Amino acid sequence: MTRSATARLAVLALLVGFVGGLAGWAMLGERAVTVPTAIAETLVPSGAASPAAAGPAVASPSPTVASPSPVPPSAAASAAPSPAASPAPSASPAASPAPPYRGPTTRTVPVLMYHRIADPAPGAPYPGLYVSPAAFAAQMQALRAAGWRTITAGELGAAMAANRPVPARTIVIMFDDGYADNYLAAFPVLRRLGFRATFSVVARGGSTMMTSLQLATMERAGMEIGNHTLDHKNVASLGPAELVRQIEGGALRIEARLASKGVIATPRTFVYPSGHVGPAALALLGQLGYTDAFTEVPGFAVIGRTSPLLIPRVRVSRFESLAAFLGSLPVQPRP
Ligand SMILES: [Zn+2]
Repeated sequence: MTRSATARLAVLALLVGFVGGLAGWAMLGERAVTVPTAIAETLVPSGAASPAAAGPAVASPSPTVASPSPVPPSAAASAAPSPAASPAPSASPAASPAPPYRGPTTRTVPVLMYHRIADPAPGAPYPGLYVSPAAFAAQMQALRAAGWRTITAGELGAAMAANRPVPARTIVIMFDDGYADNYLAAFPVLRRLGFRATFSVVARGGSTMMTSLQLATMERAGMEIGNHTLDHKNVASLGPAELVRQIEGGALRIEARLASKGVIATPRTFVYPSGHVGPAALALLGQLGYTDAFTEVPGFAVIGRTSPLLIPRVRVSRFESLAAFLGSLPVQPRP
């Protein structure tokens, strides 16, 4: 075990006591199991720090970027000017960075929620969790054609923490649970279109779930791996010790699995299993430095308004047409 992991476990022991106090408090009041829509739309005062930013950053070392970007070859190229260049080498326009975005912006960001990208076998449980690979590819191509760009869930959390609008037609694409079909059917489509997405996985994995190598491969390719607890537990129903084990234990497990394949990343995006939210889980996520957590409440994220730890999403159904899919998104100008 690394030194930082040891230190984090020590902090976890303290948090157990902290959450225990909260759970006792929660039991005195209403036994909130699921946060209703109204709470998910809770106003955050403009310019106020998010709960995550406001809480003391207890246990989260600054997350490290997964893939070190190689030095671009432009420096070497520009170092050797062509001898045939006749005009005086005045102000060289070489390798200018991307110009700042000056198009229309928005504070309303749709967050798509997918689970399985596959055709369900006859009699498969929860057929509503499936979207066919063909429908998924058509949806992604339609988004691209309509000028939508993607950011990860973590990047949305950062924009919300900074109260910073994003370019119009910015979207977050999320996959829950970590099924292997996400890697096999969704990842190639996303890569081909230059899209990024967030995959919030059940840390323990399983035979139908993505392997550690598949998770690491996606993180290297710019995807985000998020936390969906260790065992897909209802976090509103757990005692303090089990709550910490499921949330931070899940993150540690994902971190270790990625590290075993050479990727250094700490998940700091969370998805509530089955959408169950509880006050102790909310408090713990804030204490652990999570910047964004996602419910199954239908709706859009509104920067400066939605609580970053209670972000609603748009469920994509395998029964909806492409037109209905596009119609479920907010109307925004092209960037
Ligand atoms: Zn789930």
